[in-house]
Amino acid sequence: MFALSSQLINATRASRSRSRSETQIKSLYLYPLRTIHYSLSPIPYPLSPLVKLVIVIISIVSLLILENKFPFFPYKTPLRSRIVNNFELGSINSIVSSLFALAVARTIDLHSTAGILSTLPSPIIAGGLSFLILDLYMYFWHRMMHTIPIAWRFHLVHHTDRQMNVSTAYRFHPIEIIGSSIPKLFLIWSLGISSNFVLIYELVFTAIVALHHSNFALPPAIDRALAYIILTPHYHRIHHSQVVADTNSNYASVFIWWDRLFGTYRDRQNMQNIQLGISEESGELNLLLSLILPLPNSKP
Ligand SMILES: [Zn+2]
Ligand SMILES: [Zn+2]
Repeated sequence: MFALSSQLINATRASRSRSRSETQIKSLYLYPLRTIHYSLSPIPYPLSPLVKLVIVIISIVSLLILENKFPFFPYKTPLRSRIVNNFELGSINSIVSSLFALAVARTIDLHSTAGILSTLPSPIIAGGLSFLILDLYMYFWHRMMHTIPIAWRFHLVHHTDRQMNVSTAYRFHPIEIIGSSIPKLFLIWSLGISSNFVLIYELVFTAIVALHHSNFALPPAIDRALAYIILTPHYHRIHHSQVVADTNSNYASVFIWWDRLFGTYRDRQNMQNIQLGISEESGELNLLLSLILPLPNSKP
């Protein structure tokens, strides 16, 4: 869900230059992906999209190899059937979020804000606060997706996967991706969060979310050590359990501290007994069924 904010800010940067000719503006719309990370990156353009792409590819490929060589839960179906629908959804979300970013970029200028974080003299403090705020936002967004019935209908698509693996990190309904970006963009604009910090957050977010969805049997000692800081595969498996009390816990994206702080942290033993997914739903959705799942007549 993930790259939208930095895409938007960078796309905004491109679109706000009112002096550009109409031809240039049109070309931005014709090639939306080219405008992503157009400028204001901590890494000079065009290296920035390359770095992000490299992180996405490395995280997917390395975790795919690890989880297939050392799976925590044994697989019941072939690789292809486990990942195709999820990556199809991920591809659609990437395109939809890019187009949405461009549409919003035409309407508002995110850089017109003088939000408090843009006025802090120390980039370390501003960066640290930005990171924490963005991650705290994701915590509350995720929690809301579980507590508001209509939101849960969309988030359900993510939870129906019974064989969670690294590709599940990309299995989201496009409406959820768009929905999550709207308050986040307002937050970024109103607080004046730098696009540099948004990009850094999203790079870390991408890697951690891929890790905690993977079926890689991370050695328990390493998982425990990491869980002092981040949400690990162990805790996210609990979140994907069919037991309601498990599902309504461990909402964090990067820092597990939010669950500890707000009383939603949950641990359990006997992890091998966990049933992943949603009990009323087989989880074997194709692209179309995933998109219509939130409709009232498509139970569960
Ligand atoms: Zn969830
Ligand atoms: Zn998940």
